Amino acid sequence: MLVYTFDDGCEDKNLLGNKGANLVTMTKLGMPVPPGFVISIDAYHRFKTSTDLPYDEIKDGLEYIRRKTGKSFGNGLQVSVRSSAPVSMPGMMDTVLNIKDEATMLAAIIRVFESWDNIRAVEYRRLNHIPSDLGTAAIIQTMVFGNADERSGTGVVFSRNPNTGEKGLFGEYLPHAQGEDLVSGTVTPFPIEELRRRLPEVYDELSRLADTLENYFKDMQDIEFTVESGKLYLLQTRTGKRTSRAAIKIVVDLAKSNLISTSEALLRISPDELKGLIHKSIANPESYVPISRGLGAAPGAVSGKVVFDPMEAIKAAAKNGGVILVRPETDPDDVPGIAAAAGVLTSRGGLTSHAAIVTRAMGKPCICGASDIKINLNTESFEADDQVVLKGDVITIDGNTGNVYKGALPLVDAELTSELNEFLGWASNVKRIGIRANADTPEAIRMARKFGAEGIGLCRTERQFNDPERLGVIREFILADTGAERTAALQKLKKLQIQDFKALFEALGGLPIIIRLLDLPLHEFLPSESECKDERTRQRICELREINPMMGHRGVRLGITNPEIYQMQIDAIWAAKQEVPADVSIMVPQVITLQELLWVKRLIGMRDLKLGTMMETVRGCLRAARVAEVADFFSFGTNDLTQAVYSFSREDAEKKFLTTYIREGILKDNPFEVIDTNGVGRLIQLAIEWAKKVKPNIEIGVCGEHGGEPRSIAFFSSIGVDYVSCSPFRIPVAKLAAARAVMEKIELERTQEEAEVTA
Ligand code: ADP
Ligand code: MG
Ligand code: MG
Repeated sequence: MLVYTFDDGCEDKNLLGNKGANLVTMTKLGMPVPPGFVISIDAYHRFKTSTDLPYDEIKDGLEYIRRKTGKSFGNGLQVSVRSSAPVSMPGMMDTVLNIKDEATMLAAIIRVFESWDNIRAVEYRRLNHIPSDLGTAAIIQTMVFGNADERSGTGVVFSRNPNTGEKGLFGEYLPHAQGEDLVSGTVTPFPIEELRRRLPEVYDELSRLADTLENYFKDMQDIEFTVESGKLYLLQTRTGKRTSRAAIKIVVDLAKSNLISTSEALLRISPDELKGLIHKSIANPESYVPISRGLGAAPGAVSGKVVFDPMEAIKAAAKNGGVILVRPETDPDDVPGIAAAAGVLTSRGGLTSHAAIVTRAMGKPCICGASDIKINLNTESFEADDQVVLKGDVITIDGNTGNVYKGALPLVDAELTSELNEFLGWASNVKRIGIRANADTPEAIRMARKFGAEGIGLCRTERQFNDPERLGVIREFILADTGAERTAALQKLKKLQIQDFKALFEALGGLPIIIRLLDLPLHEFLPSESECKDERTRQRICELREINPMMGHRGVRLGITNPEIYQMQIDAIWAAKQEVPADVSIMVPQVITLQELLWVKRLIGMRDLKLGTMMETVRGCLRAARVAEVADFFSFGTNDLTQAVYSFSREDAEKKFLTTYIREGILKDNPFEVIDTNGVGRLIQLAIEWAKKVKPNIEIGVCGEHGGEPRSIAFFSSIGVDYVSCSPFRIPVAKLAAARAVMEKIELERTQEEAEVTA
């Protein structure tokens, strides 16, 4: 059988295509569909090899139409020939309308079949990864006429608003016209309310049918319809495209009305889809042409006046709000300027550059490495795409995509809608792994709580020193000539740190926090050599300079050679805790041996503070069993650990050879983005095993960017990690990924079980 009438009841998409199968379903549901039949995809494949069509069955189809409508060719019948692929490819293939005789209809069927291979369709399939050998069916359908009279027309409606997911008809209506007039875009249609005004009963019927279709297909529908002399006909229905925001609203509504289960709701949304939801974004990005593109280093979109000088950013921001700081790159001296700016744009540097890390932690949009903009700091202007942007000009940067635009584009707000909160609640019920946040400031902690963090898994203390006030004091400390000067500077720092920690603890609202002791090399706190006027500072900078700072005098090494720094930090944490009670743990960075941990433990003394290690060196992992004797917890710092296991420095790798490696298939993914389960992941797994033999209850966390990456979270969830810690903005993504990791494992086990049963 190669031809199926709408009444035959076959709803197989692989045979009739999407459009054809749905027309059959609508007919079955008793909806007003102009009668017709489908020449199947099997017939298409036969045609491809033999150029033969099932003429007899087509004749039977026409006879079916005659029975249903009383019309035949030469006797009032006009038909359309429409394409129908198993995957919807809107507008890509041909449609032939108003066919009045058999000869034209044969020709039209062939034209529709052949349009499967037209350039548009081929390109669409390539872009959307649709296999090119699927083929299409052809639908022969009685014509209805939206241009018959004033009580006729045509339109397209969604069963909901595809931007918000709000239920109710959304779409457009064009009176006294055929569908092609609407699709061609030559006339502007009216909002669907026009149909309500002109033909209220038709509007009500359409509204009812849209509802029924949504409930039947359990998803938002996109419906094509035509009204002929006051009578409504449905010509097509399919699942409608929607924004992420609408997608959440829809699955929550459907689950709450028991049309789908909550697990089905969780499975319908991909974690990546949640990424764009938490930040401001550009309202209609496709309507604007960017003047440059860099790396989307910190998410969110923002507009502001361009400034080139960080000091000026502070002044301008205080005066008139939003400024975008544009620099070739940034350094610690620029931090106050970055803090004042609404967003940052750099022409150099990657995703781990200073600007990227600082802005991400601050939760403000940043684009890095926009290498095609030419910044001229002398004239305070930059050039991009043959346009000159001067100081004070307004630009918009989109840290989600890395696009830079001229002017202030309309933005849409980020918010955790009640639907998203409910949805994330379902995810929390299913997930096994805990989700904590990396947060260094009270604002970030508050943000983390708002987004549903279950704790602060990593609080870095570097940023507290970068504060302009602190920077001066820490420079005093580093540059001190005498012990007395050093102690005096440290005392000042301690006072400031106590204030810092108290503010952090106050923001916690009962959540646990892990504070990491100072990690960064001292020289990072010093001005650049060229900026220094006095000889002694220059000399100190020279002394502190390192061949390879990432592997140099940093982390616990710094703490051991300058014990008064770690002592001061521990004392400050303890003092703050006495005033603002909090569940505080102390974490030591860059540990390679138990001895280092014991050394820091002596600084804590008898005070009741949990102590753990950041696991980010290969030796630390290999010595996990010994380190676990003293550590209350491990937190794997997967960024540094990946660098160490690969012997790659991230920036160089990403800039120079990783793309080639991935393109050539030598590596599957960028290991700095997706955890390398076979290498780095294996080492983590072993370290956990070894540690748990010594201390079965040792708490295991993962901090670093992998903690917010869906595939990595699935892996961590499967190897006994207790929690991941990620940027506050990633928490919703992480929660969903963690829930799906559990569900997909259940799915996997089920399929395996089934396989065993059948075997
Ligand atoms: P596409 O897959 O590109 O959407 P369609 O098969 O839906 O192509 O046809 C395009 C348009 O042609 C439809 O939106 C509708 O307006 C019009 N059309 C197709 N068949 C008929 C018909 N039988 N009566 C009236 N209009 C039709
Ligand atoms: Mg269509
Ligand atoms: Mg580290």
